[in-house]
This record gives sequence, structure tokens and C-alpha cells, in this order.
Amino acid sequence: MAMDSQIEPRVFISCREIETVVCRLAARINEDYRGRKPILVAVLKGAFIFLADLIRHLDLQAEVEFVSLSSYGQSRGTSGKVEVVQGLCADIRGRDVLIVEDIVDTGLTTNFLLNYLKKQKPSSVKICSLTSKPSRRKLPVNIDYLGFEVPDKFIVGYGLDWDGKFRHLPDLCFIKEE
Ligand code: 5GP
Repeated sequence: MAMDSQIEPRVFISCREIETVVCRLAARINEDYRGRKPILVAVLKGAFIFLADLIRHLDLQAEVEFVSLSSYGQSRGTSGKVEVVQGLCADIRGRDVLIVEDIVDTGLTTNFLLNYLKKQKPSSVKICSLTSKPSRRKLPVNIDYLGFEVPDKFIVGYGLDWDGKFRHLPDLCFIKEE
């Protein structure tokens, strides 16, 4: 397959490692939510593959909602301003909500989403994120279920993109930014 000649993704977390960790996270979520019917709120677009793998390891009557938030745009620098592009369809009042994120970087998006969801009076909100870059944090985020801590490098694959590309890669990869 033809790749962008400037950019070559390098695997740093393989699909096998991801699978092991997703199973572990699901086991903890199954334990913690036993007998409950959480609503998983996945953040588009990056979390779609993580959500698909995670939910297939849950033995809960989980429901799924998607939200789309503006954050990075085309480049790496974040404006610090987050907006709802597509909000929730479901009524989450009195429900257990589990946010499913691909990455918590500065924490601005997750904090915004937490506030947005809490205004709708769910009975609980927790966060499950595949990855976290703690060195980039601007706002603190308490991640209840975390897959991997990653260094301050731009990652793609397993649903994460660079300018719309590389979401299809099965592994988490670094790209060298030119
Ligand atoms: P925040 O800085 O608000 O925590 O993260 C905003 C968004 O930036 C994330 O949801 C994700 O879409 C994107 N992002 C942050 N770091 C990375 C990265 O290393 N790779 C990719 N593909 N997206 C990232």
C-alpha cells in the first residue's frame, strides 16, 4: 500500500499487547459494573476501534452513545477551545456513564466532556482511556481505567489518525513529524 513518503509509522505497542490490555480493562469494568447497565460514551472518531474491541469483552448490558468534539483539527497544536460537534442522543439522567477515549493528552477535551455530561445529571461518570500522555497535561484528569501511558510523541493507528490517515493500522505507532 502506498504511504505518505515523508511519514513512516513505527510500531511501539503491538496489536497483541493492545488485545491483552483491552481484555484486562474489560475484566475490571465487568467486575465494577456487575448487575448495572452502563452507557458507554465514545469520543469520535479516534475511540471507535477501542470501543468496538472493549464492548465485545463486556458481559454487561451496555449501551453505546457517540459524541463528536472539536479539538485538534489538522495540526498538533490545540486551540484550548473544545466544542460539541455532535452531542448525545440518549437521556443519561440517573444512568451510569463510562466515557471511552482514545487518548487523554492535555486533558482539555476530557474535562470539557465531563462537565458536559455532568450537567445532564447521570448517577455516575467514569473514564476509560486507551492511552494517556501525562507529561502534556494542562488540566488534571482522573482516569479510572487506563490502557497505556505513552510518552510525548504523536501516535497513530488503532483508530487514531494523523490528518485523517493511519486509523486503520492495527498497532499503535509513532510518527515522526516533519
Ligand atoms: P486533549 O489535549 O484535549 O487531551 O486531546 C485532544 C484530542 O487530541 C484527543 O482526543 C485526540 O483526538 C487528539 N490527540 C492528542 N494526542 C494525540 C496523539 O498523539 N495522536 C493522535 N492521533 N491524536 C491525538
